[in-house]
Amino acid sequence: MTDLAAILSRIGARIAEASDRGRVADYIPELAHVDPARFGIAVALPSGDVLTAGDAETGFSIQSISKVFTLALALGRLGDTLWRRVGREPSGFAFNSILQLETERGIPRNPFINAGALVVTDAILAGHPPREVLGEILRFIRTASGDERITIDRAVARSESETGHRNRALAHFMAAQGNMVNPVERTLGTYFHQCAIEMSCVQLAKAGRFLAGFDKMIAPSRVRRINALMLTCGHYDASGDFAWRVGLPGKSGVGGGILAVAPGRASVAVWSPGLNAQGNSKLGTEAMEMLAREAGWSVFG
Ligand code: GLU
Repeated sequence: MTDLAAILSRIGARIAEASDRGRVADYIPELAHVDPARFGIAVALPSGDVLTAGDAETGFSIQSISKVFTLALALGRLGDTLWRRVGREPSGFAFNSILQLETERGIPRNPFINAGALVVTDAILAGHPPREVLGEILRFIRTASGDERITIDRAVARSESETGHRNRALAHFMAAQGNMVNPVERTLGTYFHQCAIEMSCVQLAKAGRFLAGFDKMIAPSRVRRINALMLTCGHYDASGDFAWRVGLPGKSGVGGGILAVAPGRASVAVWSPGLNAQGNSKLGTEAMEMLAREAGWSVFG
């Protein structure tokens, strides 16, 4: 049997030594203060045990990892009609790219790039007050994680709102193309707040258990599809590279977190704030790669 605890402590030691830790996101000023030396990893197992190394109990901004939870909610509410407004193909462009959206007439490539996630949030809002919908998103995440303490970091939400010009550009362009239902600022405000949810690796790994198939929060057929999108689109224009190196469905966030699942085996959360050129956690990806290799986890056999 693989000694997972030993693997995790080896990974923790290796990451602690790394000199190139990537660059902390600074386009959201509140995230720029985070110490790049932090590192945490948590692995939730079918037995209910959670193994950890490093700063696994420290909260960080989940940012785009929230898009997995809002997609699950939107599919539950709208089913396949959601796909009239957003595609299911990798984009091959940066997470906040404007270019492709114009050539494809305001239909984002997938729900994990920013434009696609804005559509998903707009779809869940559907005329409801943002406070209610944010409450629903939090409820979903707290239930998935079994932890009522998870909240939104309002300073991060405010910071992104004050500087979120690209997301505003994306949302307004989609509104011009008829792909926004709610007032644009309302959708943006809700999106900025969902991205500012703060969680630790332990909370996030537990929240991913439904994606690993350990509990039946949503139908298994839907879980498979969300996992397929995480694999093909969860790391933006580095999704192919993550599939190659790690071989597991995963979703990154610019706070430096990554959630990945080895179906039937584990839900894994890792956090290292420094990002690579594609906006994914540099050392987080390396840690996931080591873990998947040493534990022998891959969806490819
Ligand atoms: N809130 C971030 C943004 O919209 C999310 C991006 C990410 O985490 O990749 O820019």
